[in-house]
Amino acid sequence: MEKVAVNLAYLLSASLFIFGLKGLSHPRTAVRGNMLGALGMLIAVVVTLLDKRIVDFSVIIAGLILGAIIGTFLALKVEMTAMPQLVAIFNGLGGGASTLVAGSALYESPSIDKLFLSASVASGIVGAVTFFGSMVAFGKLQGLINERPLRYPGEQVVKALFGLSALGLGAYLVASPENLGLYWLIVALSSVLGVLLTIAIGGADMPVVIALLNSYSGLAAAATGFVLQNNALIISGSLVGASGIILTNLMCKAMNRSLLNVLFGGFGEVAQTSEEDIYAGKVKATSPEEVALLLEGARRVVIVPGYGMAVAQAQYAVRDLYNLLESKSVEVEFAIHPVAGRMPGHMNVLLAEVDIPYEKMKELEEVNPTFEQTDVVIVIGANDVVNPLAQTDPKSPIAGMPVLEVWKAKTVVVIKRSLSPGFAGIPNPLFAMDNTLMLFADAKKAVQEIVNALKEG
Ligand code: NDP
Repeated sequence: MEKVAVNLAYLLSASLFIFGLKGLSHPRTAVRGNMLGALGMLIAVVVTLLDKRIVDFSVIIAGLILGAIIGTFLALKVEMTAMPQLVAIFNGLGGGASTLVAGSALYESPSIDKLFLSASVASGIVGAVTFFGSMVAFGKLQGLINERPLRYPGEQVVKALFGLSALGLGAYLVASPENLGLYWLIVALSSVLGVLLTIAIGGADMPVVIALLNSYSGLAAAATGFVLQNNALIISGSLVGASGIILTNLMCKAMNRSLLNVLFGGFGEVAQTSEEDIYAGKVKATSPEEVALLLEGARRVVIVPGYGMAVAQAQYAVRDLYNLLESKSVEVEFAIHPVAGRMPGHMNVLLAEVDIPYEKMKELEEVNPTFEQTDVVIVIGANDVVNPLAQTDPKSPIAGMPVLEVWKAKTVVVIKRSLSPGFAGIPNPLFAMDNTLMLFADAKKAVQEIVNALKEG
């Protein structure tokens, strides 16, 4: 293929990536945005395959078929609640692929100049950190590894040693590329660094880590783009890197943390307040019928969805409750915390799936001042995002995280199965407050029963 035609096609796919990203910024245009991005990637892949004068397509086609089967299987099978783990694997595989491609290019390339070597080393380091960091993140989210941060004396020095050794060896390889085997030593050191960096983070800080690893995978791909001198890879990698950093920043803001704090701070280790002190004799249980009565008399209701709503797949029942209350002229809004659930936008996606109007989904800053005028708040499978300890206990792992101040409403109904803690592993004084009623049940079943009781009432 002509070089000009190739670059024009790459320009087209880069434009599609950018329009795709723009589309992803709003739920209404997100599906179209996704399609545009996928089309851009298809064009980039086809053009690259045609451009490279490939002698034998058999291995490539076998890879495509295998990848398509695995991808389709995962897309159909993986539950919404397991999406963050899947994203962690995607990020990791992107990083791992960059490291391997840059490594093999080192051996294959006829001319080894300094730019080429620097890009290969960057790809090796960032890609390996991404792969192993993402695997640890996957293990934590999947519950295979203890999700609490692993902290030990001198950990920052150990991490610095691994990081500086990888960088130092990288600089040496760029200066004197006689021994290409050094590349794999650099990759090994970076792999350990990836594990050390992520194992030290946990609790409520995981969303930030996932976003950051996403950004790293983009940077590794961009570096590999320089190795292969492929403009499409440089542009798409940079876009992933930049959007990952923007998301990281948003997540840090949502958690009220600085990035340095997340990466090197000591948050998340110890729960300071004991469950016994908080709950003993103060928790009041309720029934679906009693909640229906409360709702009958309410003028304004706010629903707070959380991870438990996703696990129970309760969004359809929640939609029925919403429709029923609206038909009874009750004002209903949804309060969406930025880190509710297990991935950014998790609650928005679930509620959009059941056609809850976007204008009914209110963000934290918008909804917090309205709780005082709210008759009933129904918390459905949310815990950390409505925990007042974030404001009252400076030693708590979620200290400083902005939370939904639901306790300011007249009555709060919390639907969950037990008094078990949420992701951050800490008790929640909300459950023992005077104006809180606990409906101990599976979220889907409980909401269905409230709907039935309302219909009968
Ligand atoms: P939490 O994890 O704090 O709490 C979820 C609650 O749901 C649990 O206490 C559990 O209680 C309840 N639950 C589980 N299954 C069911 C069910 N079938 N029916 C009813 N309730 C159920 O969730 P939040 O959404 O409040 O907070 C999200 C947390 O996850 C934050 O700490 C956040 O930092 C973290 N996180 C967020 C990510 C993101 O990007 N959004 C990514 C990674 C982590 P019980 O067992 O008693 O039913």
